[in-house]
Amino acid sequence: MVRPRSSRWSLSGLVLVSLVSACSGGRSSSAAPAPAPATGHGSDGAPASRAMVVPALENYRLAMSRGTRTRTGAPGPGYWQQWADYKLEAELNPVSKRMAGKGAITYYNRSPDTLKTVYIQLLQNIFAPNARHNTSVPWAVEGIDLGRVAAQGTDLSATPGDGPGYEVNGTIMRLRLPKPLAPGGTAEFAFEWKLRVPPDGAPRGGQDGEVFVMNYWYPQMAVYDDINGWQTDQYLGTAEFYMGYANYDVSLTVPAGWLVTATGTLQNPQETLTAQTRARLDSARSAPGIVHVVTDLDREPGRSTTAGRDGKLTWRFRAQNVRDVSWAASARYLWDATSAAVGDADGDGRPDTTLIESFYRPEQRVNHWDESARYGRHAVEFFSNYLWPYPYPHMTAVDGPDSCGGMEYPMMTCIGGQLDTLRMYEVIAHEFGHMWFPMMVGSDEKRYAWMDEGLTQFDQSQAMADFFKGFDDEARNREEYLDLAATAGEVEMMHHGDRYPDYLTYGVATYSKPAAVLVALRGVLGRDLFHRAFTEYGRRWRDRHPSPYDFFATFEDVSGRDLSWFWRTWFFETWRLDQAIDTVATVGDSLEVGIESRGRAPMPVHLVVTRTDGRADSLNIPVDVWLGGARRTAVRVAKEPAVRSIEIDPAREFPDVDRSNQKWPR
Ligand SMILES: [Zn+2]
Repeated sequence: MVRPRSSRWSLSGLVLVSLVSACSGGRSSSAAPAPAPATGHGSDGAPASRAMVVPALENYRLAMSRGTRTRTGAPGPGYWQQWADYKLEAELNPVSKRMAGKGAITYYNRSPDTLKTVYIQLLQNIFAPNARHNTSVPWAVEGIDLGRVAAQGTDLSATPGDGPGYEVNGTIMRLRLPKPLAPGGTAEFAFEWKLRVPPDGAPRGGQDGEVFVMNYWYPQMAVYDDINGWQTDQYLGTAEFYMGYANYDVSLTVPAGWLVTATGTLQNPQETLTAQTRARLDSARSAPGIVHVVTDLDREPGRSTTAGRDGKLTWRFRAQNVRDVSWAASARYLWDATSAAVGDADGDGRPDTTLIESFYRPEQRVNHWDESARYGRHAVEFFSNYLWPYPYPHMTAVDGPDSCGGMEYPMMTCIGGQLDTLRMYEVIAHEFGHMWFPMMVGSDEKRYAWMDEGLTQFDQSQAMADFFKGFDDEARNREEYLDLAATAGEVEMMHHGDRYPDYLTYGVATYSKPAAVLVALRGVLGRDLFHRAFTEYGRRWRDRHPSPYDFFATFEDVSGRDLSWFWRTWFFETWRLDQAIDTVATVGDSLEVGIESRGRAPMPVHLVVTRTDGRADSLNIPVDVWLGGARRTAVRVAKEPAVRSIEIDPAREFPDVDRSNQKWPR
């Protein structure tokens, strides 16, 4: 999801309310690690020793001992992941705003454990009467109305107890299997359900009467992983998702004349699209410019889509190895498309392309939707080059209800609200960037929101600097973090997304601080080494479920450095960085520069000495000088040629709370 910028927190239409009472009822989890207590000091007090130890996550240690994870941060030889095949059917009635669904799931137990119960996510239940939530949701919608629930060929009823059956608790269904599911076995599930598509104001999707963005619209297997087992955290609104990989076969029935886009590849273009639409779409796969596949003139029934039967048309999509399937439909959409060069995505040595698409209402040109395909092409090409090739058949932006804000789904994003060109590019770059994290690198967004949002926020800054030549989005992230750090109201990044006191604190810990911290890490390691570690982390965990420890360990493995002090400082604590030039004194033919670390965060010191002859020398004081608890150090530099200025970190790589004390003379 894109974060509203600080000056307009409610831009996205999400009214962001305090979490206070709602989150107290969330499932208490042993998995979100508690940071180790600071060693008996106030938040920025002088510690006797700053020996840095990353607080251990017991379950991660156990996973290492079982061989599913390793000390290097690469998946272990025993790494496993569950799998599912979904066959889903839905029919949308835009008049009643209701959707009826039917689905079959084949679930593959690749774990070494025999499962007697399974957990299924019913995320629409955030809209049920009396549901707990920590963001505002439209009043009196409805949750998911379950008809048939069957497992292993047996129809089940909603009953408590020990025998086969199921219980729904908020957004989580606990299903007691008729037969235990052994390692290597499969289980079939069948569901029938109905739901009412929530109106504008619903987080991340819904309908505004004209466009329907169908998110979290089907029962979905919860993740069972090698570290924590079942992840059954409630969906409360703020914290996002943790989803397993699966194949999907989806049939979507809507009124004829409506356009539909979805995660996956359209299987029946001959049945759904007219010859004109198909021809234009084909040309977009090779055209250098933007192709208007469906224009204002094509919105008459029968011009862009086929006539259908009984006024309806069924669109079939297939998607492979994705975390989720979402779709959007409207009678009013225009359709733009172009192609993006992604490099060699399939490993056959030849360059590949993907289709970039955009679906929007004609009046959204005022919000620059007619530029969205071009922006999207830049973003996908940029990330394919900066990270690794985009592997999916398309990437699509859809104009949704205002309350979409900007929300990512595999191969598509819902974007809503008023947008100038800067904001439109920013949202597209951000959401398209999410195809790498978390769509390809499938972290737990609920417990470790920085793992997808922080990395994406950082990536977005790289794309913006490329698109708006030199635009400094990194500075925006750093300033947003520093604004909150100055108030001492910060909460550490290693914190469950639903347990922040308010949205600002969540937003900084999830978006701007981790993005600024990655810039700092790049400053510590240097650009090349940072980039190698960053992409190696992605390569190792693509289509898998990394934990924060896999991220930390991969950086240490690739760099060959102990970075525990860095992780502890920036991820587990809210220690602040304040490096200062204290004194500059003449000692013989040298200048002695006294440097203090006035905050609690230890970092290397990047010192630049500029002389009157124009020469600038860089000195790097290693972080080790601080790790024993020292608060002060000194370096000597030659007095001649005369020194004009001395400055700590003039490149502003490190987020220092007080820059006024970093320069000499003051
Ligand atoms: Zn995001």
